[in-house]
Amino acid sequence: MRPPGAQARFSQICSGCGDCLLACPEAILIRQPDAPGPALPLVDFTLGACTFCRACAEACETGALCPEAVPDWPWSATITDTCLSLSGIACQACEDACEPRAIRFRLMTGGRAAPTLDPAQCTGCGECAFTCPAGAVSFEQRDPLTEAVR
Ligand code: SF4
Ligand code: SF4
Ligand code: SF4
Repeated sequence: MRPPGAQARFSQICSGCGDCLLACPEAILIRQPDAPGPALPLVDFTLGACTFCRACAEACETGALCPEAVPDWPWSATITDTCLSLSGIACQACEDACEPRAIRFRLMTGGRAAPTLDPAQCTGCGECAFTCPAGAVSFEQRDPLTEAVR
């Protein structure tokens, strides 16, 4: 995932200067590892959640991050089968962490509970991914215009 506001031709525009990494108050931006050429930024939700403050874009002098041109964050959370609750281990950390209340749990047999996620409510902030002890949250792109990976 590129930072919010990433243009469609992000990897051609971004210089890899790293100014966005320094500007992010949540410190969730990293340099893409093992990539040829300049190390371009990625969002890493294991480090925290995005507040969509736009500080990264304001620091970007190349225009690679341009929220005016790309106003929507194209990512939505999805919960995978490694969710602890699906195995009967008591955990609803993601539901507790989700401010827009996009995650609910449905009781199943055997003490298990299945998470359901409403994509219409999900802002893609990453708070659930940061909170999940099992790393069970991944992200899907809902807007193919923004580059996913290089
Ligand atoms: S919008 Fe703000 S919190 Fe999100 S990656 Fe950019 S600087 Fe960080
Ligand atoms: S500030 Fe802009 S040009 Fe520099 S690394 Fe970040 S996105 Fe790329
Ligand atoms: S990404 Fe944010 S809004 Fe979406 S389910 Fe996770 S915590 Fe809720």
